[in-house]
Amino acid sequence: MKREREQRPRRVTILGATGSIGRSTLAVIAEHPGRFEIEALTAHGKVGELARLARRHRARLAVIADPSRYGELREALAGSGIEAAAGEAALIAAAERPADWVMAAIVGAAGLAPTLAALRRGAIVALANKECLVSAGALFMAEVRRRGAVLLPVDSEHNAVFQALLGAELGDVEKIVLTASGGPFLGLSRRRMARVTPAEAVAHPNWRMGTKISVDSATMMNKGFEVIEAHHLFGLPETAIEVMVHPQSALHGLVLFRDGSMLAQLGPTDMRVPIASTLAWPERLSCSVERLDLLQLGRLEFLPPDPERFPALAIAREALIAGGAAPAVLNAANEVAVQAFLEKRIGFLDIAAIVADMLRTPLVAAPVGSLEEILAVDREARILTAERCAASNPSKVYGTRV
Ligand code: NDP
Repeated sequence: MKREREQRPRRVTILGATGSIGRSTLAVIAEHPGRFEIEALTAHGKVGELARLARRHRARLAVIADPSRYGELREALAGSGIEAAAGEAALIAAAERPADWVMAAIVGAAGLAPTLAALRRGAIVALANKECLVSAGALFMAEVRRRGAVLLPVDSEHNAVFQALLGAELGDVEKIVLTASGGPFLGLSRRRMARVTPAEAVAHPNWRMGTKISVDSATMMNKGFEVIEAHHLFGLPETAIEVMVHPQSALHGLVLFRDGSMLAQLGPTDMRVPIASTLAWPERLSCSVERLDLLQLGRLEFLPPDPERFPALAIAREALIAGGAAPAVLNAANEVAVQAFLEKRIGFLDIAAIVADMLRTPLVAAPVGSLEEILAVDREARILTAERCAASNPSKVYGTRV
């Protein structure tokens, strides 16, 4: 069903504007002068970049999450007429401002409260931050229904499934398939994986992304998160969400219907494609990305994921099945473990092992009925995981103690 084209520019807020997704969103917007207006842009610590983007895109408000950088931001915006604000409360206030469309692209659990604030006022929210649905999926989906908000998946696999489902009845879906590139270590032995460095882990073969999600892709925890995300977005049981390794990353997701038909979405490995599909939703927007050349590609391969070398996928599935606080513990433990790996305080294989240990703590039985309870679990899980990481001995991995 076609809706009338909006007569005025769509007003946009980008939470996490300085990141990989935030900058790609602004790149698509820049291709359509007059079609969008920027209400607010936010960042964590990159003051200079935030001020530059705010000036270039004529934002009304720029928010820096780190309150100690407020003075710097004000100075960088002097004379521009752009409002400056700082701190966590200011992030939430930015999400509450009357933008029609909000990109949720803050990385990690820090994105939960501002994204929820945007949903609570019934906005169209393009969701890149998968941690929201991993940690607080039931709460978020209940708020979407209650407030009449629209949640559009930006994650390429979910965006693919979303597109394949347009006009379909969920009752007709037998299963969905999320594809995984396999990351930089697809062909590596477990022995070799034990010694990979952070630089090797973030060197993704197909996608250019932020550091944290690049490590998540290398462990395949990212795909585990995506199974949880898909469960909440599409209301499907865990058993109806399959993962296949597809090294070409051309086919992002597909839906198998009960009559045997499969509908898939294909596209280049460029996040501007899923972003563009949500920016003007329900309309489509032109986007100057390089087109996928199927003839040049020649073939598409599909392989089952290897549970021995990539245990994170099964660990995430276990957390989904366990429910309650388990997915919030999974997310928090993973964030802390990934950071410890990036700082060479633990080895690559320790990430999944430590997260699995955290799922065996009594914390998974904690109540998670509200955002406050979920954030309390998140905080506690971070403390426990940091202790567990500190007990690790990275000299076994990197040769010397760092
Ligand atoms: P980046 O690390 O590139 O960017 C993260 C953004 O969040 C930056 O603007 C950063 O600000 C801001 N930020 C970081 N920490 C905080 C905090 N504590 N409070 C407020 N803001 C903060 O990440 P990506 O763009 O790669 O990913 C963003 C989200 O999208 C993640 O959840 C990721 O899983 C998801 N995603 C990303 C994809 C990709 O291709 N990149 C694909 C699918 C999903 P600053 O720059 O100042 O540090």
